[in-house]
Amino acid sequence: MAKAGESSLSRKHVLILGAGFAGLYTALHLDNLLPRDAPVDITLVDQNHFHLFTPLLHEAASGVIHPGLIMTPIRRLLRGSRVRFLRARVDKIELDRQEVQLCCMMLNYDILVIALGSVTNFYGLESIRGRALELKTASDAERLRCHIINRFEAATRERDPQRRRRLLTFTVVGGGCTGVEAVTELREFLLHLQADQYNSIPLEEIRTVLVEMQDRVLPQMGPVLSKAALQRMQEMGIEVLLNTQVRDWTDEGLIFADSRPPLPTDTVIWVAGVRANPVVAALPLEKDKYGRIVVDSYLRVPGRPNVYVLGDAAHARHPQTGKVYPPTAQVAYRQAPVAAANIAADLTGGTPRIFDFTYIGDLVSLGRFSGVADPFGRQLRGFSAWAMWKFYYLLRLVGWQNRLRVALNWIIALLFPAQSSISYECSPECAREMCL
Ligand SMILES: Cc1cc2nc3c(=O)[nH]c(=O)nc-3n(C[C@H](O)[C@H](O)[C@H](O)COP(=O)(O)OP(=O)(O)OC[C@H]3O[C@@H](n4cnc5c(N)ncnc54)[C@H](O)[C@@H]3O)c2cc1C
Repeated sequence: MAKAGESSLSRKHVLILGAGFAGLYTALHLDNLLPRDAPVDITLVDQNHFHLFTPLLHEAASGVIHPGLIMTPIRRLLRGSRVRFLRARVDKIELDRQEVQLCCMMLNYDILVIALGSVTNFYGLESIRGRALELKTASDAERLRCHIINRFEAATRERDPQRRRRLLTFTVVGGGCTGVEAVTELREFLLHLQADQYNSIPLEEIRTVLVEMQDRVLPQMGPVLSKAALQRMQEMGIEVLLNTQVRDWTDEGLIFADSRPPLPTDTVIWVAGVRANPVVAALPLEKDKYGRIVVDSYLRVPGRPNVYVLGDAAHARHPQTGKVYPPTAQVAYRQAPVAAANIAADLTGGTPRIFDFTYIGDLVSLGRFSGVADPFGRQLRGFSAWAMWKFYYLLRLVGWQNRLRVALNWIIALLFPAQSSISYECSPECAREMCL
């Protein structure tokens, strides 16, 4: 009996795992490139029924925008295309048998695209994994928001000053783009919450701390922008601990590798880096220290010409400079048309394309009206970088309706900063935490 997805002699099956920036756009580009009557089936698999636009996740956590606006149903995006969508979890990839084990069925393929993204890297700190909050998914954003509200509620009841201090100390670990955006958004959210609903809590009791291992924040940007970001954070009242490595999180607080005293905190948001998805890391292929699969300049696995790896799952290098592409949406999104063109060339003949995208730079928001950006080597900071950030991500959002709604949310947040945060219901898991 044929397994699901098994190709007949003439039809070929392209199986794409992951509907994030790399997988979703590869599926859409491939559908466009192939003639309508080409004997090719395309299947896209994801554990979620929606595509998540991560660059605005921190704003969903703070309630500046509704989380639903960054979650677009995948079936809607595929409407009118030949791509078949399966909502399922990928459990295992069997490269030699050209099979993929899903939670509900087995699929065969002729060409495989692995675009399963990454997971948070805790660097082996088991005491922190499972306890710290992450910021990778829409439920992480919801959990973070409810966690903060639960801490504010508990602080209004707490008489012990030490315990109050611990409840009201919010720590972000990781001073890269995600960490800096998260901590500045968090600081504004905490101040808005205090002004709007919790004015019985003195402002000076609310601590926001950023911990970074290196000697500057945003190490991927130039020192001038790092310094500008640091200054802005300090002006916002964020305590930035540089050259500080976290070793443990105990009842005493966050423990550091050097001799400084523990930081008593009830909240640790861990955004200190990513590593490959475990399904990817388990593959018997050449990988880097983060578990990402090494690919050639056509985005294929060397020695396995029918397997492509993209996005955060791939260790790809610029063919001229040899620099490894960073795990960003920008790279994943740019790899998609190249992978699609190469798959189309595999199927219908043609010359494959090399992926030689020159990284444009980073755009980082630093709360209201401020940001830093280094597009094409230029150094922007303050309002211009912030405006560019807003404009760029508005354009990148999927669908006009979402763009319009996000723009309206932003306008409301600018006009009424202290009361604009959108409320949504806590999950039962968060609600259980209400009596801390
Ligand atoms: C908070 C945050 C902010 C960010 N901001 C920016 C930014 O401003 N600019 C930028 O360029 N990048 C940003 N990034 C990085 C960016 O999100 C990633 O680099 C990008 O999403 C990688 O694309 P991808 O397609 O490889 O993976 P993803 O977009 O993560 O997609 C992977 C997909 O695989 C699915 N999946 C995973 N495991 C399984 C499984 N076992 N079974 C089935 N499906 C599975 C997931 O549900 C997901 O849909 C940010 C990331 C985060 C977390």
